[in-house]
Amino acid sequence: MKAIRRFSVRPVLPESLRPLGDLARNLRWSWHPETRELFRYADPEGWRAAGGDPLRLLGSVSAGRLAELAQDRRFLRRLKLGAGDLNDYLTEPRWYQNADDELPAAIAYFSPEFGITAALPQYSGGLGILAGDHLKAASDLGAPLVGVGLLYRHGYFRQSLSRDGWQQESYPVLDPDELPLELLREPDGAPVDVVLALPGARALHAHVWLARVGRVPLLLLDSDVEENAPGERDVTDRLYGGGREQRLLQEMLLGIGGVRAVRAYCRLTGHPEPEVFHTNEGHAGFLGLERVRELSDAGLPFAAALEAVRAGTVFTTHTPVPAGIDRFDRDLVARYFGDDGELPGVDPADILALGTETAPGGDAELFNMALMGLRLAQRANGVSTLHGDVSRQMFAGLWPGFDAAEVPITSLTNGVHAPTWVAPEVTDRAPRLSDGELWDLRRTLREQLVEEVRRRLHDSWRERGAARAELGWIDHVLDPDVLTVGFARRVPSYKRLTLMLRDRDRLRNLLLDPDRPLQLVVAGKAHPADDGGKRLIQELVRFADDVRVRHRIVFLPDYGMAMAQKLYPGCDVWLNNPLRPLEACGTSGMKSALNGGLNLSVLDGWWDEWYEPDFGWPIPTADGPGADPDRRDAIEAAALYSVLEEQVTPCFYDHPDRWLEMIRRTLTRLGPKVLAERMVRDYTQRLYAPAAHAHRTLDPAADPTASAQLAAWKDRVRTEWPQVRVDHVEAAGPASDSLELGGCLTLRVRVTLGGLEPGEVEVQAVTGRVDHNDTITDPATVVLKPAGRPDLGGSRLYEGELALDRTGPFGYTVRVLPTHPLLAGPTELGLAAMPPAGAASVESGVLMR
Ligand SMILES: *Cc1c(COP(=O)(O)O)cnc(C)c1O
Repeated sequence: MKAIRRFSVRPVLPESLRPLGDLARNLRWSWHPETRELFRYADPEGWRAAGGDPLRLLGSVSAGRLAELAQDRRFLRRLKLGAGDLNDYLTEPRWYQNADDELPAAIAYFSPEFGITAALPQYSGGLGILAGDHLKAASDLGAPLVGVGLLYRHGYFRQSLSRDGWQQESYPVLDPDELPLELLREPDGAPVDVVLALPGARALHAHVWLARVGRVPLLLLDSDVEENAPGERDVTDRLYGGGREQRLLQEMLLGIGGVRAVRAYCRLTGHPEPEVFHTNEGHAGFLGLERVRELSDAGLPFAAALEAVRAGTVFTTHTPVPAGIDRFDRDLVARYFGDDGELPGVDPADILALGTETAPGGDAELFNMALMGLRLAQRANGVSTLHGDVSRQMFAGLWPGFDAAEVPITSLTNGVHAPTWVAPEVTDRAPRLSDGELWDLRRTLREQLVEEVRRRLHDSWRERGAARAELGWIDHVLDPDVLTVGFARRVPSYKRLTLMLRDRDRLRNLLLDPDRPLQLVVAGKAHPADDGGKRLIQELVRFADDVRVRHRIVFLPDYGMAMAQKLYPGCDVWLNNPLRPLEACGTSGMKSALNGGLNLSVLDGWWDEWYEPDFGWPIPTADGPGADPDRRDAIEAAALYSVLEEQVTPCFYDHPDRWLEMIRRTLTRLGPKVLAERMVRDYTQRLYAPAAHAHRTLDPAADPTASAQLAAWKDRVRTEWPQVRVDHVEAAGPASDSLELGGCLTLRVRVTLGGLEPGEVEVQAVTGRVDHNDTITDPATVVLKPAGRPDLGGSRLYEGELALDRTGPFGYTVRVLPTHPLLAGPTELGLAAMPPAGAASVESGVLMR
């Protein structure tokens, strides 16, 4: 008979063992080997059976063993030390407390998924893992983040394979009482109830679960509560499941409900209110609207509330293709907002305008979450230098007066949390080892992976219906002395799981080479609705099932954090072959690098930025406008085989000294860059601190008029802007034949400012080398100074000098931009007045556009 509900009875720990409960409830154990070691010692068998999850362990350990431990003086001493260490970690001043800038009192970090540990499976891939690493690094640095997400009752899904290699999905129910979570409660003990109004007098209720990620609280909203009607209960049932309407409700709960959960958390615990709200991708964008609603309820007009909210908001985009952006039918959005739904204090027309695709080619019927994210945030970034470029081009339509390069979306490259991803053996020893010892350590890690692979492959074949007696061959799968290449990630088409299969004979020859073989470990989940991805997995599985190669290539089902933590340390080479530039950053290669893995990758995302010949190998690409996708795959696959045949395998087998030198350089020179601590410090200094400063200036609680004044100023500038003109440009300088390096050129520019004052604009000359189209390729700006009074027509004279500091074709143009101390930059408004097109001319041999 099947139970309809399950629960677990938690043991009462003897007084002296109470600290075990505290250690289990703070997820810091997941990146602290010493704490895990305590749990393992408490019950080695139970620890294995619990999959390394302390709460499950404590739920299963026998009363007899607990009584024993309560008498074990050595264990109690270690437990006391462990508990004291956690307490120090949670309370001691850390980097953030010692930084001297005026940093935000708190930062709320919103994400649709969080990958903290396999024991809290609330992630599907890179976006969630990044969010988890962000929180952990923030905790290590003492940065006062509050994480906000949803609790999905089925998480993502468990992947297994059918006999013929087709992906099977299952959705085990997660019982929050068995997870490392506590319910957030009101002082009277009732659960905090976050409520969203839905059309038709319905309501969406959610309770709030608290996970402790070191010093960082993570709030997860859960709609599976009694107060809800059955339909609303299922809003948070799955991550990235369901239809558009469910997705919209999830995002409303995350954004709007999330802000309400943060307010409740601060009210109940005394935690400082966030001064900065960071939204990890567009899904949580409604958080800005809820804050607009709060200010509107306090009497602020929409435009002023918008300025106050923008000031304290940071938006990170992760999507390099328009098709990847979250968009809803406008009608659907309209239905959920307004008097009959949420945010009744905000005009639905204002809400819809924030998500409108205004640029040419936009779809007027759609509500675009990324555009709303950008319009609600004064600061925005992509996640690698290359992705910054791609994002500026992709969103350039929002700043029509500017070249893509000037679009105010910066980039800040992702990082990974070393204590989570680096094998303890590597952290402790690698840098000090001799060559022989380092080679042995790599072999030990490879050997551990081989054992793990065999165990997982065995389980997988049992699930695929094989009898034990058929599986003897698995004992000989992989070889701890063979060069091991890993490839594991989600399976959207751009990641090209099956590129390696393009020329199967050539791959087989690599795998079976008698002298210099390589072996491949592959893993990845396809989205349940993505049959194309499942076909790729099936192709790969069928190839790997072949008796000729199955000892050298494996596909492991159910890629997740637990598998990843074994995979990265055990692989010598980490392979990544996305379609450039569709990998916004990529992080698995960083995790491999921190373990001494060498990257073999297309120059995309972070690898484009930090690749050096000492750290691995680039896969040459055939990208570019109009590249035929099939031809491109063929060329890039051939390039991949060549690099493996000619460079990677000979280096590993014939020049181990060079290989070890590459590992050392990877660890010492690349290692420090790819850290999540570096990333969070960068976010703090480059985005959070200026956002907090802007927030304080515009916060209506501090200055009731500042945000309204800024809104009124922007409004006036937009109204006056059509009057702003560049009337005349002249260059006074040496004659053309004496334009020499080291000389300078004086520019005199007449502009009309309409109703604006000189202090409200900046007149700039933009100069630099020009290409054959007269496009300035490396623009630098020189601010021109007012010279003299306005003449009768109201036009004004500006002057400045251009230094002729390089030889060759050189050009300039001039422009007028609005300026205000509370703008994040001069391009924020998307307004620029340029000389009329006909004014382009060549003066004194100097090109002018
Ligand atoms: C790091 C990681 C990812 C992301 O890898 P990418 O290289 O960015 O695709 C996905 N899943 C898991 C389990 C990871 O650990």
